[in-house]
Amino acid sequence: MERMAAATNLSIVVPCFNEAEVFPETLRRLEELLRKLEAEGRLSSASRIFFVDDGSRDETWNLILRAVDAGSPVVGIRLSRNCGHQTALVAGLEASDGDAAVSIDADLQDDVSAIELMLAKFEQGADIVYGVRRSRDGDSLFKRGTAKAFYRFLGLLGVETVSDHADFRLMSRRAVAALGEYQEVNLYLRGMIPLLGFQSESVLYDRQGRFAGQSKYPLRRMIGLALNAVTSFSVMPLRLISVLGILVSLATLFLAVWILVKAFTHAQLVPGWASTVLPIYFLGGVQLIGIGIIGEYVGKLYLEAKRRPRYFIDRIHRQTPDASGR
Ligand code: UDP
Ligand code: MG
Repeated sequence: MERMAAATNLSIVVPCFNEAEVFPETLRRLEELLRKLEAEGRLSSASRIFFVDDGSRDETWNLILRAVDAGSPVVGIRLSRNCGHQTALVAGLEASDGDAAVSIDADLQDDVSAIELMLAKFEQGADIVYGVRRSRDGDSLFKRGTAKAFYRFLGLLGVETVSDHADFRLMSRRAVAALGEYQEVNLYLRGMIPLLGFQSESVLYDRQGRFAGQSKYPLRRMIGLALNAVTSFSVMPLRLISVLGILVSLATLFLAVWILVKAFTHAQLVPGWASTVLPIYFLGGVQLIGIGIIGEYVGKLYLEAKRRPRYFIDRIHRQTPDASGR
């Protein structure tokens, strides 16, 4: 189904955590894109870039304020503290008011010009358009390797994800609203969005290196995201533990029968040290793994059961419609 030919009001959502170094260039490129598409009549002049300051401790928020005051098509949203990339993204999506919202990282690793392709798919009727990386030369070998292994593992666990896609995507207004119905506090958007359904498409782009600044995803955060992905979307680890338990018990049962038979047929059976101690260690290990995995899920239940708010907005800064003249 084609959408009406009217110009789209597009919101571009950019989470920023200590991104003062890249901010000017990111703003320049996104603003240039908006103006160009506006001139072509594809975007309405109400389109805005929503910069979500995720509790930055550098100049990021001041730069955002200045951009708004200088008349750039920008809305600044400041979260009350650092809530993490995924939550900042959701905060921006929920604050956005466009017919469609594109989420993109601040560091220009994702190709800004792909937004134009996403818009084309949206105009043709798609509700979700995934930005899919054709290449990933900009990322370190370690990042590429761990990411690849991780997505394969997720696939084995039955979590549906779009491969080579991160959080660079377009969502229609109703897809954003549908996402808002998911009330979980531990977010793994890449797993949640395919669950929405709706007509989805992909566009290919080349992933660049960071334009400036350091990655805000140290190993610790990557592990956190990975754990979230697994425990939020799959009960397979719990099931695996049960299967392992059953296998070990069955094996032990056969072993016991075998020993009994031996004991009756051979009068002299030297009691082995290994056969006593090894199973103790082995079962101890299996139990600890099992408890650990259950702990992960119980911990998650605990956090979700509290139904804590995901974020608080400290400030929103945007032009008053008449002052900007747009
Ligand atoms: N980010 C954020 N809050 C955080 C960490 C990161 O809003 O706590 C933003 C960051 O500013 C960037 C995006 O999330 O726009 C992706 O982060 P980064 O580029 O550092 O991750 P990487 O590309 O290394 O995975
Ligand atoms: Mg990055």
